[in-house]
Amino acid sequence: MLPFQSIQEAESSLGRNLKFAENLWFKYSANKSDYFLYCHNTIFLLVFYTLLPLPYVIAELLRSNKIERFKIQPKVNNSFKDMFNCYKNVMTIFILVVGPLQLFSFPVIQSIGIRTGLPLPSGTEMLLQMLVYVLIEDYSNYWLHRLLHCKWGYEKIHRVHHEYTAPIGFAAPYAHWAEVLILGFASFLGPMMVPGHMITFWLWMVLRQMEAIETHSGYDFPWSITKFIPFYGGAEYHDYHHFVGKQSHSNFASVFTYCDYIYGTNKGYRYRKSVFGKLREKQNGGKYNISRQDLKAE
Ligand SMILES: [Zn+2]
Ligand SMILES: [Zn+2]
Repeated sequence: MLPFQSIQEAESSLGRNLKFAENLWFKYSANKSDYFLYCHNTIFLLVFYTLLPLPYVIAELLRSNKIERFKIQPKVNNSFKDMFNCYKNVMTIFILVVGPLQLFSFPVIQSIGIRTGLPLPSGTEMLLQMLVYVLIEDYSNYWLHRLLHCKWGYEKIHRVHHEYTAPIGFAAPYAHWAEVLILGFASFLGPMMVPGHMITFWLWMVLRQMEAIETHSGYDFPWSITKFIPFYGGAEYHDYHHFVGKQSHSNFASVFTYCDYIYGTNKGYRYRKSVFGKLREKQNGGKYNISRQDLKAE
């Protein structure tokens, strides 16, 4: 809740006129508690998780020739029922585990100093903070994910996420509830270390979902804006990790490729990409596709 009764009071406190975005924020948040604003995160989680994978669902149902070229594992078909069941399973985890956890974790958010007041952060400040968040998330997710591939971690927890050897958008958070919490911690670590404004926190959480859904989409579209991000892994990179499954000792990182490069956990991927990529180039005019037969053939 803002400590100002009116826009005039806010402006005299800041010593300047409110900017357009600050005006909107004042009107929206002035009478809302910080707890209520934090709870928006749960709503965003449910809404964006429902909406963002829909284009991929439509692509999967249509499977037109134009789209088929971009399917990473073209031999795999997912029915509407398959995808809806995945959605229902994930929503159940969200409602029973993630939602309550977010509601009860508010004291932590308060104690680390995520603010809701004015002035709002500049665009540059928000971008730099989110860059820090994504670097922290990527590095910590790499090691936590790698840990989940130890025998006990895989059998007891991570096996569930790997049920999809050819992932779909809805399967991004499809995992054992313990994994949702463990890897969710990696997403919270950045805001905990470098706390910013609540709006930055919301944007970060939405961005994280967008990235995870694209990475698990099963499609590698060349026009994706993420193709311009240096060292970005993307859908094909993580798809390979699912494709290999339990034996996978490759491509653990969630966002970028450099951790796998530095720690030598991308050798299998690079080998197969170079060998089978050349084969596919001849067959598909440049599109790299792998199949489980290719894996056995090696
Ligand atoms: Zn894994
Ligand atoms: Zn995955």
